[in-house]
Amino acid sequence: MSAIKIENLHKTYASGVHALKGLSFEIKKGEFFALLGPNGSGKTTMINILAGPTIKTSGTVKIGGTDIEKDREKTKMILGVVPQEISFDSFFSVNEVLILQSGYYGIKNNQKYIDEILEKLNLQDKKHANTRALSGGMKRRLLVAKALVHKPKVLVLDEPTAGVDVELRHNLWHYMRKLNKEGLTILLTTHYLEEAESLCTRTAIIDKGELVALQKTKDLIQSMGNAKKLTLTFGKKVSKIPEALLPFDPKKQNDHEIILHFETQDINKILKALESIKYPIVDLDLQGKKLEDVFIELTYNRNGKL
Ligand code: ADP
Ligand code: MG
Repeated sequence: MSAIKIENLHKTYASGVHALKGLSFEIKKGEFFALLGPNGSGKTTMINILAGPTIKTSGTVKIGGTDIEKDREKTKMILGVVPQEISFDSFFSVNEVLILQSGYYGIKNNQKYIDEILEKLNLQDKKHANTRALSGGMKRRLLVAKALVHKPKVLVLDEPTAGVDVELRHNLWHYMRKLNKEGLTILLTTHYLEEAESLCTRTAIIDKGELVALQKTKDLIQSMGNAKKLTLTFGKKVSKIPEALLPFDPKKQNDHEIILHFETQDINKILKALESIKYPIVDLDLQGKKLEDVFIELTYNRNGKL
């Protein structure tokens, strides 16, 4: 049974920006799923379509098996959304924020549950504190608490750790892990690769509104495990990439550097190729590829930004 199923989703804003271009993927119940993408790739657009404020142009979106167009109220109840921006009405206390949010979902007399959430997110001491008096980390946790008051089955977090310090980031990871272990399905958007690497079973990568990868996170990393990146530095200006290097996906870094990509089993082929070229090699730098490289290759390089 899928928690979220998106098929051929398109969004074109009134401005003409085509933010989502036929996005399709499915998140299963209980999964901790990462959606990675650089700024402007369409992550928030996708989340806002799931959550309601943004209307899709075409395609289908099902939450918990129900089409969002068929039963908006039902699908809204299934989702809890932690938005990218922190904003609280500064007149209210932590407890009041959560009571108001419950009211928004038509839930009354849920103080006991609110207390449980506060406990789980380590905010019980701040129950009666004004939201203005909270630290950045506490505010983030209050946003998570707010997203949980109506007992959603799927929690969607839009870059919850963007711009937060390392300690708070690890803190939030701890809470997200705990919630997922307790059965909550989590969709996390981020542009931190280590976050997907450390938390998520599957990772999708989007770029310019298109899906460019979707795999188990460890397979995504492993698929690159044998791949190597070799940076060659030449003693003189390289005007044209030598023909012998062409099989190794060469990228000219600058006038003196070429980066080659190859599988470990092709090491002898590459050594032969290096021997055959006339340019003097003055330095070599060999690296294994990481998720970071995959991400950069699939996004920035594709756009010719690097
Ligand atoms: P991300 O969350 O991955 O950074 P967004 O979904 O915010 O990406 O943006 C995707 C693209 O859509 C960008 O080009 C952005 O400028 C554009 N965009 C986002 N929101 C709007 C809007 N309300 N009106 C017009 N264009 C928008
Ligand atoms: Mg965003």
